[in-house]
Amino acid sequence: MIEPTDLDLTLLDHIPMGFFVLDGDMRVHFWNKLLEGWTNIKQIQIVGKKITEFYPHFDLPKYSKRIQSVLRGGSPTVFSSQLHQFIIPIYQQNGEKRTQHTTVTSIQHEYLGTLALFAIQDVTDLSCSMKKYRRMRDQALNEIEERKKIELTLIKEKDKVEVFAAKLKLLSTIDSLTEILNRRGFDEYLTKEYRRAIREKKPISLIMIDIDFFKKFNDTFGHQAGDDCLRIVAQKLQSITRSSGDMLARYGGEEFAIILPDTTLHSAITIANRNRISIEKLAVKIPFVDKIQTITISSGVSSIVPDGSSNEETLIKTADLALYQAKLDGRNLVVSKTVLRNESSILQ
Ligand code: GH3
Ligand code: MG
Ligand code: MG
Repeated sequence: MIEPTDLDLTLLDHIPMGFFVLDGDMRVHFWNKLLEGWTNIKQIQIVGKKITEFYPHFDLPKYSKRIQSVLRGGSPTVFSSQLHQFIIPIYQQNGEKRTQHTTVTSIQHEYLGTLALFAIQDVTDLSCSMKKYRRMRDQALNEIEERKKIELTLIKEKDKVEVFAAKLKLLSTIDSLTEILNRRGFDEYLTKEYRRAIREKKPISLIMIDIDFFKKFNDTFGHQAGDDCLRIVAQKLQSITRSSGDMLARYGGEEFAIILPDTTLHSAITIANRNRISIEKLAVKIPFVDKIQTITISSGVSSIVPDGSSNEETLIKTADLALYQAKLDGRNLVVSKTVLRNESSILQ
C-alpha cells in the first residue's frame, strides 16, 4: 500500500481545480482538497485504492487506453467538456452534472516511475454561457432569416403595387366609352411630343375632328345609338391611324384629335381628308331600327415647327379655329392653318 506522503503535491490544494494522480495500476496517489469537497470522498479514503472501485467507468477503453498511453510517457491527453462532459461525476444542486475540462499529463516520480496527473477544470458556467450564446446566435440567425423573408415579401408586394399603379395610370388616360386615349392622355402626349419637336426642330401637326350634326343624330336615334356611333367612329379612326407616333384621342363629347409628330401641314391635310372620306363611307347601323345612317366629320388642321417661344396651346387654338371655319364653310370639310412663329398671325 502506498502512503499519501509518498507524493507531496499539497501545493495543488491551493489551486481552484480538481487534481488527482494515478499510477500504472490505476491506483490513486493524490486527491486534492477541492476534489474532496466536490465528491465527498476524502483523500484518506481513496489514496492507495484503484480509481475503478469508486468510478468503474475508468475501465472503459475510451478512458483506459488514453490514460495508459500517458502512463507510458505519451503526450498529454484532454477529455474535453464537449466530447466527454465530465470525467468525475459531480452534481450541482439542480441534479445536473457539472461540466469538466480535464487534462491528463505524465509526471515522473523518483520511486513510483511514470504517473498520470489529472487536472480538472470546472467549466459548467462557461459551457452554460456558451449554450446561452449559441441559443442567442441561433435566435439572431432565425430572426435574420425571418427578416429576409419579410423583406422579400415586401419587395414582391412593392412590385405588385408598382404594376398596379402603372395599370391605374394607363387606365386614367383611357376613355371608357371608346377605349382610346382620353383628354388627359391627349394633353400629356401633346406636351411630350411638342417638347420633342422643339428639341429636334421638327414639325408637329394636329387634326381636330368634330362629328357633324351629332345633336340631331342623338335626338333622332337616342343617346345609346349616339354612344355606339362614337365607338364606331373611334374604331374607324384608330384603324386608319397607322404611323407609330400618330396618336388618336377623344378630345371631349363628339370631338376627336390626332397628334401627328414629325408631320408637315401638307401630310396632315392628306391624312385628314383620308379620314373624312373613310367616315363618310362608314355606314352606321342604328340598333333596333332597320336603318343605316351616314355621318360626316369636319376637321381643322394646324401645324408648326416650334421653337421655345410658342407652346402647344397655340397649336390647339389654331386647329380649333380651322375646325370652326370648316363648320362655317358647310361641314364634311378639312380646313388648315399654319401657326407662325409669331403666334398672333395665323395663315389660312
Ligand atoms: P356641329 O355639326 O356644329 O358640330 O353640330 P353638333 O350637333 O354635332 O354639335 P353640338 O355641339 O350642337 O352637339 C354635340 C352633341 O354631341 C350634343 C351632345 O349630346 C352630343 N354628345 C356629346 N358627347 C356625347 C356622348 O358621349 N354620347 C352621346 N350619345 N352624345 C354625346
Ligand atoms: Mg362639338
Ligand atoms: Mg359636332
